[in-house]
Amino acid sequence: MRTPIIAGNWKMNKNPQETQEFLEAIKGKLPESGVEAVIGAPAIDLNALTWFSKDEPLKTAAENCYFEDAGAFTGETSPKALSDMGIDYVIIGHSERRQYFGETDEDINKKAHAILKNNMLPMICCGETLEQREAGDAESWVTGQIENAVKGISAEDLAKSVIAYEPIWAIGTGKTATADQAQEMVHVIREKVASLYDADTADKVRILYGGSVKPANVKELMSKEDIDGGLVGGASMDPESFLALANFNK
Ligand code: PEP
Repeated sequence: MRTPIIAGNWKMNKNPQETQEFLEAIKGKLPESGVEAVIGAPAIDLNALTWFSKDEPLKTAAENCYFEDAGAFTGETSPKALSDMGIDYVIIGHSERRQYFGETDEDINKKAHAILKNNMLPMICCGETLEQREAGDAESWVTGQIENAVKGISAEDLAKSVIAYEPIWAIGTGKTATADQAQEMVHVIREKVASLYDADTADKVRILYGGSVKPANVKELMSKEDIDGGLVGGASMDPESFLALANFNK
C-alpha cells in the first residue's frame, strides 16, 4: 500500500516571514494519517519548516542540493547540512533546474546518491517537452531520464524514493495533462522501474504527477491506479489551496 503524497514546490517564492504566516494558517489542519503532506521550499525557509514539522504532520523538502557534503562550492547547499537540520526529501531534476541551470542526468544521479547517503529521500523529477510529446518521443525520453537518474541505486533505496512525472508543457501553464495521459506515463515509468529492478520495487516506489495540479483536478488525478500524489507549484502557495489538496480524500 503506497501512502499518497501531496508535495508543494514553492520554487523561488516566500521569505521566512511569509513562510511563518503560511505555517500559522495551516497549523492543526493537515491530515494526521493517510496522506503525506510535504512542502518544498527555498533553503532560507527550511529552518521554519523543520521547526513546524516537529509538532505537525508535515514533511519537508529542499528544492535542490549539491552532491558533495562540504567543501569549496560557493553558493551550494550541502545534503549533509539539510539532513542534519531534519529535512526529509530533496527535489532533484526539476525541469526548471535542467533548463535554467544546466542540470544533467549525471548531476541528478550524483545528487540522488548523496541524498540517500545522508538518510533523506530524493524526489526525482522527469518529463518531456511538448515537441517531444508531439514527435512521439515522450516515453523513451522520460524512461531514459529515469534510467540515468537511478543508476547504482539499490532496489531498497529506490523503493523508498519518489519519482515525479512533470510534463514540461503542463508546468505553470494552467494546462494539466488529462488524468488518463498522466496515468499512462506514470504506468510506463512504473514498468520501467520493474524492468530495471523488479516487480516489488516498482510496486513500492511512489510516483507523483506534477503540472497545474489544483484542488479542482486533484481528486480525478488521484483516482488513477498508478498516480500516488502530486508535486504542486502554484496551487501549493496559498494555505487554503494547499490544505484542500492535502485533504483531497476527505
Ligand atoms: C512544479 O513546480 O513542479 C509544478 C508542477 O508547478 P505548477 O503546479 O504550478 O504547474
